[in-house]
Amino acid sequence: MAKKASVDKDTCISCGLCTGLCSDAFVIGEDGKSEVVLADGIVPEALEAAVEDAAAQCPVQAIKVE
Ligand code: SF4
Repeated sequence: MAKKASVDKDTCISCGLCTGLCSDAFVIGEDGKSEVVLADGIVPEALEAAVEDAAAQCPVQAIKVE
C-alpha cells in the first residue's frame, strides 16, 4: 500500500533539511514551515526512500510517514 507523508507544522522548525533532501515532496510554505506537496500526501514509490530519509533526519521528528 502507498505510504502517506505529512508534516506537523507546530513542530517544524523550518530548518530546510527535508526540502533539500526531497524537493519533489516538501516545500517551505508561506508560513515558513515545511509542507508536503504530493497530492493527498501519497508518496510515489520513486520518492519513498528520499521521503523516509527526510523523516528520519528531521531534527524534531515533524515528518510522519505511514
Ligand atoms: S526537516 Fe523537519 S524541521 Fe526541518 S523543515 Fe523539514 S519538517 Fe521542518
